Amino acid sequence: MNVLFIGPPGSGKGTQSKVLQKKFGLVHLSTGDMFRQAITDQTEVGLRAKAFMDRGEYVPDSTVIDLIRDRLNKDDCKKNGFILDGFPRTVAQAEALSDLLNGLGMALKAIFYFQVDRAELVRRLSERRTCRNCQRVLPLDQVVNFKPSEGCVPAGCDFYQRTDDQVEVVSKRIEVYEAQTMPVVEYYRKSAIFHALNGADAPDQVSGELLKALS
Ligand code: AMP
Repeated sequence: MNVLFIGPPGSGKGTQSKVLQKKFGLVHLSTGDMFRQAITDQTEVGLRAKAFMDRGEYVPDSTVIDLIRDRLNKDDCKKNGFILDGFPRTVAQAEALSDLLNGLGMALKAIFYFQVDRAELVRRLSERRTCRNCQRVLPLDQVVNFKPSEGCVPAGCDFYQRTDDQVEVVSKRIEVYEAQTMPVVEYYRKSAIFHALNGADAPDQVSGELLKALS
């Protein structure tokens, strides 16, 4: 089962990806996580992506499409399926995805669009912290009470504020999303497998809607 999540930054795509990953054994394909890992590993792709990410801009289509093409060709994606989280973000990427899936003989089962208003996104993004190692995301108030034993490394998670979650960059990211990714939402909206979700609902409620649509 292959699923696509589309929505602004901070709309809960990552959180819901974890739910589907656990329940159905799907591979979580987050292009943002892949770029952050590439930056940590100081690969050529990471070095190319970093400046765009720090400014809240999109990484060029060709770089993102090459990354996802390589990833979709790996065997784990053929097992139980995958969740695309944060790709495609431009119409050119959506067209490339369609070609890639056709070439691989794969199809999407559902497309979920996470809707959240701007004020809520700004609030969530500026309050969230991310683990440098496992990419777990938590609101600041939960980071304080987070037990090391629940973390990813023996000493617990290592939470930091992503450069692009800082308040100056957040509005830029939302602007870029509206200009470049809303056309992708329109591109998919007429599809029979398109589902709109209220991403402002509690995470459990959103998971319930997702699972209902997938059953
Ligand atoms: P995310 O973690 O999904 O919010 O992504 C963080 C940043 O990575 C974005 O603001 C972009 O700079 C870059 N990025 C991730 N996915 C894409 C994509 N599909 N197209 C272009 N840039 C991307």
